[in-house]
Amino acid sequence: MTSTAAFLGHGSPMNALEHNRYTQSWTSFGAAHPKPKAVLCVSAHWYVNAVAVTAMQNPRTIYDFGGFPQELFQYEYPVVGSPDVAQRVADLLPQHKVVMDQSNWGIDHGTWSVLCHVYPDADVPVVQLSINAQLPALDHVEIGRLLAPLLAEDIMVVGSGNIVHNLGIIDWGLVGKGAVWAEEFDAQARQILTGANPTDIVSLLDHPHARKAVPTAEHFLPIAYIAGIAEVSGKSIEVLVSGCELGSLSMTSYALS
Ligand code: ZN
Repeated sequence: MTSTAAFLGHGSPMNALEHNRYTQSWTSFGAAHPKPKAVLCVSAHWYVNAVAVTAMQNPRTIYDFGGFPQELFQYEYPVVGSPDVAQRVADLLPQHKVVMDQSNWGIDHGTWSVLCHVYPDADVPVVQLSINAQLPALDHVEIGRLLAPLLAEDIMVVGSGNIVHNLGIIDWGLVGKGAVWAEEFDAQARQILTGANPTDIVSLLDHPHARKAVPTAEHFLPIAYIAGIAEVSGKSIEVLVSGCELGSLSMTSYALS
């Protein structure tokens, strides 16, 4: 069985508990494909100085946020891990000396707040892949290319981030839309990703709005992995759902067609 890859714009952790047009698109994505053997998730929230994978059999649920209702801190997404898949990822990336994490990390909210809608029964094993903050953007595309063989091994790859992510200038009055610059940046991303050369997405880091849209790279970079996978697999990228929220957040999600 061949699986697929997607970039899911996760937004607020509250999306784990809510049902809206974004979470519905994640659910539809899960329903549209056979359940894979495992999911490898590249989460914006594991942004460290190494390429690491969660290699434990039973990863813990991590609550890597503050200021949200208690209900969210009690939420459990009790998936198992997959030491085999973690080892396979390490084998595909020998030059990165992948750290096999046994106890430090787990399943962070970048992963569980979306996968709880894709696989609500938590019945698909999940391995997380960190984003190495020391690497240039093109290296993240290259890691994506190297991970492309996973799809043919029935392992789904999910990138979880946001194309536009600037919490410092959130405008609570802009419900259901972005500021003009955010909508422009998001539209430009859609144009590149759904075009012939999706890996050109990293050129957006030089866009005039990039300093506002991508003040730090961690939420943007998961899309680089998915673009690299798309390139190698010869699949085009399609929009699952698009939209901006609160001025400076893009919730647009993508999947391989
Ligand atoms: Zn986030």
